Amino acid sequence: MRAEIVAIGTELLLGQIVDTNSTWMAEQLAAAGIDCQFQTRVGDNLERIAEALEIALDRSEAVITCGGLGPTQDDITREAIAVVMGVPLRRDPDLLAKVEAIFAERGREMSPTNARQADLPVGAIAIEQRRGTAPGLICPIGEKVVYALPGVPDELREMVRRAVLPDLTARSGERAVIVSRTLRTWGLGESKLAEIVAPRLDSLDGLGRGAPTIAFLASGIEGIKVRVTVKAPDAEAARAALDVEEKALRELLGTVVFGVDDETMEHAVGEHLLARKLTLAIAESFTGGLIASRVVALPGASGWLRGAVVAYASDVKHTVLAVPEGPVVTAEAAASMADGARRLLGADVGLATTGVAGPDEQEGLAPGTAFAGIALPGSEPVGVALRLSGGRDRIRQIGSISALDELRRRLLALG
Ligand code: ATP
Ligand code: MG
Repeated sequence: MRAEIVAIGTELLLGQIVDTNSTWMAEQLAAAGIDCQFQTRVGDNLERIAEALEIALDRSEAVITCGGLGPTQDDITREAIAVVMGVPLRRDPDLLAKVEAIFAERGREMSPTNARQADLPVGAIAIEQRRGTAPGLICPIGEKVVYALPGVPDELREMVRRAVLPDLTARSGERAVIVSRTLRTWGLGESKLAEIVAPRLDSLDGLGRGAPTIAFLASGIEGIKVRVTVKAPDAEAARAALDVEEKALRELLGTVVFGVDDETMEHAVGEHLLARKLTLAIAESFTGGLIASRVVALPGASGWLRGAVVAYASDVKHTVLAVPEGPVVTAEAAASMADGARRLLGADVGLATTGVAGPDEQEGLAPGTAFAGIALPGSEPVGVALRLSGGRDRIRQIGSISALDELRRRLLALG
């Protein structure tokens, strides 16, 4: 069973609204195991809507349209479907009564154009509208089907869940689910990741249609995501297949993977600290509280976070964190900030950042020059250079996640 989506509305083509309906429906189709290989957007024009429907019906067993079911002049989805079906519209007395009742209930005058919402192509079945006024349509065309849904996202979602998905799965006879899992990585570029994962990609290619697929999604300041998608008869089989892929990928990628799906870098750090019963203190200079803010956003952070200090001016680093006099954007200064934070706040582990966020130089150093300091129990505090580039905001964001990643890797190495 293949289904495609045709989103209708000139405003979609002009970029005035974002086609979130198609995105949402695509997700639902995938979860129901229905392949969706094409999505089209078309303006409010009768011939072009009909053309889009015909093309879609040529390729797929089912087509879902959204938008253009309302009462206004430019709402012509019904008419276009009637053209494709080769039938006229008829006004359904029951639907008309319902539309009239909705208006009566709201105490509003019903204009004659509103009656159009009670029109159906001959042979079509209405999907009851429970939120707005325009009903949806199920339009059988030979062995195929067109579903027409209103553009308003709430109304559309309710109808998809109640009427469209049950009808589609009943028609397809096939039961399958398509599920994804995302491995989150930090530290390697997309091409390097692809190179490492290539052997797995090759062996999956050999399995042909229906094999798991792997995609790379660059997610900016949150790293690169490696997403695995599998199609399986049911949720349990899908989970088992995902487990196999996750294991294979983790073997290739190693410690580059810091989490799965919604797990953030700070979540990973928190898990490592908790597992080792360690507490954390943070001292931030150029990241100015970004790390603390990320950590505090985690539910349960109180189990391991002692506190954080934003030590921005050099003399604050010296007096509050006992950083020795001298330059403050160095590996040594970062290490001693981490140690100072740990002592000041009574924690087992210290994490610190110091650097130049830009746009101007500082101490003769270019923007992006930055260090993370890490103090772990039982060893000398260390400072590591972070490689950062971009504007001030990006430097601070990447600096935050990079520093957390440095800590994560060292906690891992503790065993
Ligand atoms: P109505 O009965 O409200 O007129 P309709 O079926 O005629 O509904 P449209 O007029 O095309 O639908 O769209 C109604 C509203 O729904 C739009 O103004 C927009 O806010 C939203 N909408 C329409 N299409 C989409 C889409 N593809 N993705 C997200 N939102 C959409
Ligand atoms: Mg409309």
